[in-house]
Amino acid sequence: TNRTFTMLKPDSVEKGYIGAILEKINAAGFKIVAMKMTQMTTADAETFYAVHNERPFFGELVEYMTRGPIVAAILEKENAVEDFRALIGATNPADAAEGTIRKLYAASMGENAVHGSDSDENAAIEGFFHFSGREQF
Ligand code: ATP
Repeated sequence: TNRTFTMLKPDSVEKGYIGAILEKINAAGFKIVAMKMTQMTTADAETFYAVHNERPFFGELVEYMTRGPIVAAILEKENAVEDFRALIGATNPADAAEGTIRKLYAASMGENAVHGSDSDENAAIEGFFHFSGREQF
């Protein structure tokens, strides 16, 4: 088994989708091994998304990710990174497959409900960005 990192983004929390999304995550066989509700500061979001800092949408992305609380979690499953990205669907919900979390709960490319790490290495980095070792069960 291995692990991935996710955030239920501010739009998911605002719309009351925390329970529904966690239900999908559990139903797909992921075990929650860390979880908290928190709000990212501007500096947090700029660091977390530093890879995108030259992109035209960077300012909008930081505004979005800091405007309210998120739910951060570490998830465990065999093939976690790849299987979780399949569960959430394409970045743009218009392109996301039927039944995926983004198809069901995301409004747009800019407000796409959830994050999923794109590699095992980034899953570990992102997990430690939000959780100490003692919080990762
Ligand atoms: P995430 O990293 O959140 O799981 P992703 O890997 O599917 O998403 P990335 O290309 O890494 O997508 O982009 C990171 C985030 O930046 C997206 O989830 C989305 O919130 C935002 N984003 C990406 N492209 C755009 C865009 N063209 N316009 C607005 N926001 C965008």
